[in-house]
Amino acid sequence: MPLYCTKCGAANEEFAEFCKSCGDNLTEAREKNTDKNDEPAQTSEKKLLRSRSNKMITGLAAGLAKYFDMEVDLMRILWVIAFFVSGSTIAIVYLIMAAVIPQEPV
Ligand SMILES: [Zn+2]
Repeated sequence: MPLYCTKCGAANEEFAEFCKSCGDNLTEAREKNTDKNDEPAQTSEKKLLRSRSNKMITGLAAGLAKYFDMEVDLMRILWVIAFFVSGSTIAIVYLIMAAVIPQEPV
């Protein structure tokens, strides 16, 4: 990733100390760059969490529904169908997911 000079906008080597175009110190540009990288891009990123507010057993179905933009009821029906179809397998999957996926913060 090139380092863009804050003064003239020239692209420099990532580890360059001074701008090859205007000679400006690139420390500032690097800090700016780092800030940008640190910025949580995850704000819009969806996170799979178990719902606290809308839970029947563990909140997993509600969390999954939210994650996949689905109706909670539809997600629950899918789980119920899966239980009927695969029995204990899906029960184990459900329990593992419920254990692994964190609960959404209060
Ligand atoms: Zn420059």
